[in-house]
Amino acid sequence: MFLGHFGLSLAGKRLAPAVSLGTLFLATQWADLLFWVTALAGIEHFRITPGATRVTPIDFYDYPWSHSLAGLAAWGLVIGGLYFALRRSRAGAWVLAAGVVSHWALDAIVHRPDMPLGIAGPYVGLSLWNSIPLTVLVEAIIFGGGVFLYLRATSAKDRTGLWAFWGLVAFLVLVWLASITGPPPPSERVVEYSGLAMWLFVPWGWWIDRHRAIVRA
Ligand SMILES: [Zn+2]
Repeated sequence: MFLGHFGLSLAGKRLAPAVSLGTLFLATQWADLLFWVTALAGIEHFRITPGATRVTPIDFYDYPWSHSLAGLAAWGLVIGGLYFALRRSRAGAWVLAAGVVSHWALDAIVHRPDMPLGIAGPYVGLSLWNSIPLTVLVEAIIFGGGVFLYLRATSAKDRTGLWAFWGLVAFLVLVWLASITGPPPPSERVVEYSGLAMWLFVPWGWWIDRHRAIVRA
């Protein structure tokens, strides 16, 4: 899943308005941010298998540290705990911890049964990636819902707050559509380096956050 993780970060702003959008991105996308690093380092593994699923040709066959439920529960405690230590916000810490674990739940909807519960399995997955229309529908609903909630929770302080946000929305949708409709990537290395570029969404989120105000309901 791609857009859905961002959708939950955006929705998280309503639950914990004090937490920056960039930090919410870091939490809900932690599994993937970590995975592209461990894949490059040779600790976790994937391969390109054209036709692996209808939506993505990437076969994730070994990623227990970044994508198991047990691993993400531990990472959630670490990230929530660090946030609490730095900011003393219980609500913020819990929303971030839940955001880290939410990645597992969303991925388990779309992935084949390759999502580990523990470090050595068992593996689950509802395989929604075998249907392009259903994948598009689910991603669009979660992302659209997140954008809607985010717009109700915040308002632009200036023009940057408007364009930095809508620029991100447009960019995410384009990257996602390109990944669904484009040809399989040329090599695993290319996938890893473009995956690493996802780290840029964290500062982009921090930047947006500084230019938007919380709407008091
Ligand atoms: Zn993932």
